Order: sequence, then C-alpha cells, then structure tokens
Amino acid sequence: MEGKIKLGISSCLLGNRVRYDGGHQRDSFLIDTLGQYVDYIPVCPEVECGLAIPREALRLVGDPADPRLVTARSGKDYTEQMKDWAATRLRELAKEELDGFVFKRKSPSSGMARVKVYAETGMASNRGIGLFARAFMEQFPHLPVEDDGRLHDPALRENFIQRIFVHRRWRELVARAKRRGGLVDFHTSHKLLILSHNERDYREMGRLVAGAKDLTVDELFCRYEELLMTALKKKSTVKKHTNVLSHVFGYFKNNLSALEKQEVLEILDQYHQGMIPLIVPLTLMKFFAKNFKQDYLANQHYLDPHPLQLKLLNHA
Ligand code: SF4
Repeated sequence: MEGKIKLGISSCLLGNRVRYDGGHQRDSFLIDTLGQYVDYIPVCPEVECGLAIPREALRLVGDPADPRLVTARSGKDYTEQMKDWAATRLRELAKEELDGFVFKRKSPSSGMARVKVYAETGMASNRGIGLFARAFMEQFPHLPVEDDGRLHDPALRENFIQRIFVHRRWRELVARAKRRGGLVDFHTSHKLLILSHNERDYREMGRLVAGAKDLTVDELFCRYEELLMTALKKKSTVKKHTNVLSHVFGYFKNNLSALEKQEVLEILDQYHQGMIPLIVPLTLMKFFAKNFKQDYLANQHYLDPHPLQLKLLNHA
C-alpha cells in the first residue's frame, strides 16, 4: 500500500477528554497498535454539535427505529440539533475518503448497535443506534464500521482490519484510474481472500468483471465495490479457510516429497480441528508459494492480509 489507512473514530477513544463527565475512553490497541497503520479523523458528535464539557448525560427515548436524543435528567431534546450538525459533518467526511469508522459502543450519539432506548414507562431495550452513527452508516453503507467493544472479539477484529486494508487498496486503485484491466488485476489478487468469505459472491464478482461490457466503468466499479464489501462482511469459518488452504496446497503438492506432503496435511488437519491458529498453515503456504516461485499465489493478499505486528490470526 502506498499510504496509510484513514479511519474516522469517536474522539474519546483517542484519549480526548470530550465525554459528558470530562473523561475519555482511551483505547490502547487502537492508538498504539493499529494506530501505526492508520491516520485517524476524530469526531465527537456531542461536542461538535455545540454541547459543553462537562454536560448532562444524554439518552435515546421513544421509537428504537427513530428515537429522540434527550438529556437524562432534565429531558432537554437535542435531536434536531444533532441531526442538523450530522448532515453538515457527513458532507465534510465524504471529502476525507475514509476507509472505515470505529465507534464508541453504547453511546446515544456514537453507538452503532445495541444502544439503550428508553420507553415512556422508563423501561429500556437494547435496540437503538446512536444518532450520528445511524446517519453515518446510511450515508456510507459500504464502509467498514465497528465499535470498540466488538473489536475485543478476535474474529470481529480480524474481519474489520482485513476489510479496512482491502478498502485502502481499493481506494488506491480507484485513485490511480478506473480501468477494467486494473479491476481484473485487483479481483485476481483478492481471489482467495474473497473465497475465504463466500464462494458464491466470488463467482458473481468474477462474472461481473468478465462480462460487464454493457456497464459504464463508473457503474462497474460501483457495483464491484458493493459486492466486495458485502462479501467481506460475511464470516470466514475454519471450514472455508481449510478449503482455501487445500486449494493452495494443490499448486505445489507435486513439488513435495511424500513425507513433506504428509506433514502439510497434518498441519491442515490440526488447523481444521482447532488445535493450531490460522497463522501457522498460512505462513507455511506463503513460504511454499515463494519457494516454488508460484507468482499467482505470492500475489494473493490472502496469504499476507495485514502486517504481522498486528498479531492477528493467532487464536485457535
Ligand atoms: S461517545 Fe461519541 S459523543 Fe460521546 S464523548 Fe465519545 S465521541 Fe463524543
């Protein structure tokens, strides 16, 4: 990649003291580890829309599909103020060319899922979405988004990081030139990675790339991006990875001795049974791809999805 990934982020996660109580929610993984590869654009909806620090805490009330944003004690309604500000801020963020957004969980302004919404009776359900997070996701439906809570789950963390790296490469391709040939190359080098999420989506994307003469280049890129980001959101599983790894193994199994073949098959089986993490067979396949000069495989982002320093794919 030529440049850094660009992510929007709830400002308090960067350690900025913007919370209602004057505190922050500094997240060391996001800052110290992922931060090495990312330029962050901080956004604090409550402060940027004109509220003070400190301030009375806010909550969502009413219909979970279209709640009001009000202060928890005095009941002052900030819904329209927040929505007006969000419309302007989203126009600015569109110019930033983001690769994704990390939201603060549970916030009535920034939470992307399972935010408390209070009914008239005072009872709360967890079916809300923060006002700014909702507007952001409606405006940028294909951008990768996550919240700090979900990022503690290793599988969700890997999926999000994989998607932002792919999005960054996609953005670089689009910035260079929207050419059909460039799209074919992009699709080819992401084949195994997409297959590890969903084979049907991979085939549909292949048909789109191969037979899209009736679409303009803009339409083609737009449709491909939609399919790509939808496919990558689908969960990878041990079974899907085992299928992809077996496919990779097929490229050089004839170069290996019987003993070496048996060793590789044992490693694949140990991964399949959940005894070793994905990084083990992946590293082995990467070595073979280089050793046997399989350029097609060596160019597959699947074998090298993100920097080792992020310590991902390490859980069994
Ligand atoms: S959760 Fe959102 S609104 Fe609340 S302090 Fe953090 S950035 Fe600001």
